[in-house]
Amino acid sequence: QRINTLLNMGASINSVLDQICLNIMEVYHYEFAIPLLLDPSRRYLMFNHMVLPSRLAKKIASILGVNPVDFTYPIAEDVSLFKTVIVEKKCLIREGLKEMADRIPFARFSSVLRKVTPYLSKGLHLDLDNLYFMLAPLPSGEEVMGVLFLGHKNPLTESDFQLLEHFLDQVGVAIAKSEVENRLRQSFKELQELDRMKSEFIDIASHELRTPLTILQLYLEMIAMEHYGELPEKLRERVSIMQGSVNRLEEIIDQTLVASRLIKNKLELEGEQVSLVGIATEVVRQLQPLWNAKNQHIFVEDMDLSPVEGDRKALSTVMSNVVDNAIRYSPKGTDILIGFKEHTHEVECTIHDQGYGIPPEYREKVFDEFYIVPSETEYARMDGRTGLGLFIAKGIVERHNGRIWVESTPKTGSVFHFTVPKKR
Ligand code: ADP
Repeated sequence: QRINTLLNMGASINSVLDQICLNIMEVYHYEFAIPLLLDPSRRYLMFNHMVLPSRLAKKIASILGVNPVDFTYPIAEDVSLFKTVIVEKKCLIREGLKEMADRIPFARFSSVLRKVTPYLSKGLHLDLDNLYFMLAPLPSGEEVMGVLFLGHKNPLTESDFQLLEHFLDQVGVAIAKSEVENRLRQSFKELQELDRMKSEFIDIASHELRTPLTILQLYLEMIAMEHYGELPEKLRERVSIMQGSVNRLEEIIDQTLVASRLIKNKLELEGEQVSLVGIATEVVRQLQPLWNAKNQHIFVEDMDLSPVEGDRKALSTVMSNVVDNAIRYSPKGTDILIGFKEHTHEVECTIHDQGYGIPPEYREKVFDEFYIVPSETEYARMDGRTGLGLFIAKGIVERHNGRIWVESTPKTGSVFHFTVPKKR
């Protein structure tokens, strides 16, 4: 239970291991329990979990030649230990540190172990030559993450390992689960940070782009007005094209700025009485060149409707973004119908097109920032689309305490709905 509580709190693997060792010592009366974890290459056992009194640690360091916490044991080369504990997940039991030293396949290590035994025994108040040792696999999911090094006063047998094994297996599953959760938590944090950096970049970029753009617009206009001399016909045409492009650039930058303000919850809105029919009529008039070019017709249902309370400019942006899409994402010669429904507390506006439609899996996503339906992406980006239109529409509608959603049948058309309360 204690271990589960720790894991649920997202505790580090180290504190979970400490708790495991304490519990094992407490319940099964072991003299010590030290986790020796495999390093990432799975070739060495690491001793960094071993806590020694500082004087003893210094003494051991002078014999070992390294600090005990930095000591690593090349387990992959100790065939019997590696094969039994790590590969076969069985335990190894030894009587006394002397026997352990005798079985170590590296002469240098066994002599070091013999040398440090008296100091360890004295420093830890344990008779290490007469203790019984167990090296048990420490599971983590299906894998073994290391070895649990245990010492007991009484002789140890296979059945002592079986008692532990059941417990360790459960802990292993919990550790594996918590590692996945920790990794997910970490990734989530990183994603949030990336998201924040992205928003900040967009904010700075859109602000910084505005100044040079204004200068370009100003001088282009002065050139067009022949302030710097008469323009030959060819140049006049080119200047006009440049003005068109600069204006489109301005639209994109403005869109980005609005999106950035929405993300930062810094979009300022007025609260006035506005007529959605009036807004629709005006937007349809402004977009006429677009729908005329595609030989489409837009009908605005003319009805007596209560006004809604909101920001006229922002609500025009919502209408314009949705109607602009209805035009763009519908073939030539189709009809678009803008209708209204009066509810008790709100007015609902529907924009009905006979366009390509939106597959069900994208119906929520089209409202995300920069989202463009994958099949459209290449064409849409070439066409200067940003994927911000519906994100902005949703942000503005929600700031008015309204809702926006879409119903769509692929190849038949889409119906976008949005509602705005009559009084906020
Ligand atoms: P943009 O139009 O700039 O790409 P939007 O946020 O306005 O960005 O729209 C997101 C995506 O949703 C579009 O790229 C398009 O794939 C899809 N979409 C929007 N409106 C419609 C519509 N009426 N019919 C079909 N697809 C649409």
